[in-house]
Amino acid sequence: TYVVTDNCISCKYTDCVEVCPVDCFYEGENMLVIHPDECIDCGVCEPECPADAIRPDTEPDMDQWVEFNRKYSEQW
Ligand code: SF4
Repeated sequence: TYVVTDNCISCKYTDCVEVCPVDCFYEGENMLVIHPDECIDCGVCEPECPADAIRPDTEPDMDQWVEFNRKYSEQW
């Protein structure tokens, strides 16, 4: 899965949401999040993010971000 990290906070762009083929972006409290079970790992959103906030969970220390993204995407 891909996850949204804290660089997203206060970013007003939603380019990522528009390109996601499965609509798995959700609104968190002050940033967007990706539902980790709905993301199909296509990677299309990553280069669209002007804040470089979207990262693959294969990078180091991403577990906490996966849980954060899950928590805020499941509140809807
Ligand atoms: Fe959506 Fe693909 Fe980004 Fe996952 S990697 S959030 S499916 S655009």
